[in-house]
Amino acid sequence: MSELRELYQTVILDHNNSPRNFGNVENATGRAAGHNPLCGDQIEVSVRVVDGVVKDLRFEGSGCAISTASASIMTQAVKDKPLENAFALFERFHQLVTTSSEQAIDSEALGKLAVFGGVREFPVRVKCATLPWHTLKNALEGTSDVAKTE
Ligand code: ZN
Repeated sequence: MSELRELYQTVILDHNNSPRNFGNVENATGRAAGHNPLCGDQIEVSVRVVDGVVKDLRFEGSGCAISTASASIMTQAVKDKPLENAFALFERFHQLVTTSSEQAIDSEALGKLAVFGGVREFPVRVKCATLPWHTLKNALEGTSDVAKTE
């Protein structure tokens, strides 16, 4: 298990040091801001949904390593996914970080998101990991889908 934990830490540090999809989506169809007062994490997520697919999503803000890495990996996991898959991932991620740590992690279904399984052992950190996802959900739910051009 310790090797696995080391791998997880490497992934989180990597995404914290060089966050993917950092910035602001041009012609965004939705955006939302999130704040985790427990830790001080601030995040803004902008999305561009076209024909029910999350074509682009980016995040900005400042937060701890867990929230930044979670946002970064989230953008990679959700990009180019249909909305229903994005919401399904939200549910899966939420379940992952809030279930008992004795429960096995379905790393096949979760992909890279599985690295956040370790967060379950640090309840204070769960909000850091879920903040980007809640913010994304708000941005997607407030989305005005771009009209089809045909
Ligand atoms: Zn945090």
